[in-house]
Amino acid sequence: MAETTRAPEVPQVMQAVVCHGPGDYRLETLPVPHPGPGEALLRVEAVGICASDLKCYDGAAKFWGDASRPAWAETEVVPGHEIAGRVVALDDRATARWGIEPGDRVVVEQIVPCWNCRYCDAGDYHMCQVHNIYGFKRATQGGMQEFMILTPGSLVHRIRSEVPPAHAAFAEPLSCALHAVERAGLKFSDFVVVAGCGPIGLGVIAGAAAKSPAQIVALDMDPRKLKLAAATGADTTINVATEDAVSRIREMTGGYGADVYFEATGHPSAVIQGLNALRKLGRFVEYSVFKDDVSVDWSIISDDKELDVLGAHLGPHCWPSAIKLIEEGRLPLEEICTHQLPLEQFKTGLELVASGTESIKVSLIP
Ligand SMILES: [Zn+2]
Ligand SMILES: [Zn+2]
Repeated sequence: MAETTRAPEVPQVMQAVVCHGPGDYRLETLPVPHPGPGEALLRVEAVGICASDLKCYDGAAKFWGDASRPAWAETEVVPGHEIAGRVVALDDRATARWGIEPGDRVVVEQIVPCWNCRYCDAGDYHMCQVHNIYGFKRATQGGMQEFMILTPGSLVHRIRSEVPPAHAAFAEPLSCALHAVERAGLKFSDFVVVAGCGPIGLGVIAGAAAKSPAQIVALDMDPRKLKLAAATGADTTINVATEDAVSRIREMTGGYGADVYFEATGHPSAVIQGLNALRKLGRFVEYSVFKDDVSVDWSIISDDKELDVLGAHLGPHCWPSAIKLIEEGRLPLEEICTHQLPLEQFKTGLELVASGTESIKVSLIP
């Protein structure tokens, strides 16, 4: 087997953020990893901070377990799954598998499928039973470090080097949003409502706009985000802080309600709003990760409206389209990617995501 050659510019040590448990993330000096057989070494150029990174930092039960489920996240892990970087070193096997070379700018899918379970066998690799995701498991150390290893099962995609790194890393949330759009099975006649104009909601708007439905309505409380929603492809924007979205939607649809409602806020109130805004036989797509339980009257789903409720997780098979939309400049990424911070300011980054008022997408530049 060909030896991987270590490029001369690779140092011995580097800076990395390491998760030691909820609320305990530290900037540390680590040795630069050496790629093994079938692996690649990546110089990380940007890593987006996701709402899920914040929820993991805050100790959400989804990551750290509770009475009814075990912990899924692990400690001693470098966080970060929205990754863009430059290929530094790899062997023939990795070159053949991914079709990439040193110097290429790439993005990598967040999940590293096992390629050996019933979901992976069926092509539903995003539901892989093992479920190693970069930045949450020791086996898949994430992007909040200067150099990282792309493990052999990874899905790596090339992206044009003219795309700024923070924009390239947006391929992760965008692919997730495009998967949500696919779950809805959009039709040209659809009246579509998107609740929440953060990175996922804006991605849903861009993806829905690419499918050209009859109407896309964006909901948020922040006028600045609603402006971005319009720039991304929403036909109508409604500020839920000052307007009654459900009655506006009913007015706009002859009293029926929306065909499709995407929930991308993570707030329980947006779930109830969606059930009320949908028409009978409508489709509800849920993308959020919630901090709190949501209580709703499920008879709206059954007896009242016979709704289709569709979950969505990750962005399987949507990365090539996400990359194409980014390369074609179909999203106002200059405005969406609001903050790029050095690695040592990761806490400021998490705070910016938590407050959500100044930022849309916050990235670290290791
Ligand atoms: Zn993410
Ligand atoms: Zn699997």
